[in-house]
Amino acid sequence: MVIVGGGPAGLAAAAELRRRQVGRVLVLEREGEPGGIPRDCHHAGFGWPDLKRMMSGPAYARGCAARARAAGAEIWTESSATRWRGARTLQVTSPHGLFDVSGRAVLLATGCRERPRAARLVPGTRPAGVLTTGALQRIVHGARERAGRRAVVVGAEHVSYSAVHTLTASGTEVAAMITDLPRHQTYGPLAWLAAGRHGIPLLAQSELTRISGKGRVDGVEVTHRTTGATQSIACDTVVFTGDWIPDHELARAGGLAMDPGTRGPRVDASYRTSGPGVFAAGNLLHGAETAGIAALEGRASAAGIARFLADGAGWGAPVVPLSVTRPLVWISPNALGLPEAAPVDHPFVLRVAEFLRDETVDVRQGARILHRERFRALVPNRSIRLRGGWTRAVVADGGPVLISTASRPREGEAR
Ligand SMILES: Cc1cc2nc3c(=O)[nH]c(=O)nc-3n(C[C@H](O)[C@H](O)[C@H](O)COP(=O)(O)OP(=O)(O)OC[C@H]3O[C@@H](n4cnc5c(N)ncnc54)[C@H](O)[C@@H]3O)c2cc1C
Repeated sequence: MVIVGGGPAGLAAAAELRRRQVGRVLVLEREGEPGGIPRDCHHAGFGWPDLKRMMSGPAYARGCAARARAAGAEIWTESSATRWRGARTLQVTSPHGLFDVSGRAVLLATGCRERPRAARLVPGTRPAGVLTTGALQRIVHGARERAGRRAVVVGAEHVSYSAVHTLTASGTEVAAMITDLPRHQTYGPLAWLAAGRHGIPLLAQSELTRISGKGRVDGVEVTHRTTGATQSIACDTVVFTGDWIPDHELARAGGLAMDPGTRGPRVDASYRTSGPGVFAAGNLLHGAETAGIAALEGRASAAGIARFLADGAGWGAPVVPLSVTRPLVWISPNALGLPEAAPVDHPFVLRVAEFLRDETVDVRQGARILHRERFRALVPNRSIRLRGGWTRAVVADGGPVLISTASRPREGEAR
């Protein structure tokens, strides 16, 4: 069994697979150390969903790797899976050269990354000093350097405040945060602790419309989305945060069906992709959730993988797609393989595009309402969990399952 990616999802899957005594489990990790993104997140906030205790990112990453190793998984670091050489065979690039690795099953757990400036098409010059949160953390915690003197942070979700914390704690002043939404999307106390108490302004409903500077950034232009008013801010550093894109190159190269909402591979509730024997879990499926959610997905995927390793079954049955309508943006998992081999008791993860209060989310197949769940608040860029018991009522010939909000049901449908 081969796992690509030694982050929380891949390592949790490895530990659980070994606990289920599936035989040899090999984790391929391209970095020099396993643990994934938390290795570089030098702050508390990791571990609650999966371990029920709070710890720092590096401590959490070490624990994930230690549990996988103690369970008997092999972890090969500096080993990148670079291309497919067969349905379940991968070419690996490592300091020992190029070689092929085959498994009876493959789990992709390659995580996600923030979209960099180039992908966001921000006009202006191309100076140094433009970073993502990941790059910022590598400079500050890896190279132990200061990122700059004065920074602007683009985004106002959880990770944006993590970037602000990293900047201020390492001696960089934060001139402003910018979000195109009406307000921040994190928890009030976290926003206050990271930014509010330092007097860092949040420019809401605003966009970064230009970056200037020759060798190094010397300023940015910010435009208000409704009034069109612009302002210039002097800074030598710009940090783009959030706006996640799954690290899906291997999934695409393998010809796996992709979900247009999440931009990750389509998976059913047993984490099966469209490729027989190929599973996927963690942030590869949907962009950034917390590490604990990624680890729980990895752990949950192990049940389906163990079943497949035992009987080779699971593909070829009808697959019912799950789709969402605006203001919902995506759901994960986003398909159901029928009959689901196991009851779906773990929640689905959802995202919404705008702030909504006292909203009901409906799940329907054709005219049948399978599930209704009320939410006090739905916040963009923040995790929403939808209970999963309704999957038992899905039938193979009932058409796609649609998930929508009650205030804005499916297009063309009156209420
Ligand atoms: C700045 C920041 C702050 C955060 N703060 C928190 C927090 O406070 N609490 C919290 O719970 N979560 C936090 N998170 C989110 C958390 O880090 C992620 O949810 C978690 O790491 C996802 O786990 P994963 O295994 O899916 O992916 P990752 O952690 O991204 O791991 C994927 C691994 O796959 C490897 N890989 C990718 N492609 C290949 C390949 N082709 N071959 C071999 N290896 C490959 C990568 O090197 C990486 O190690 C934060 C994230 C960021 C960026």
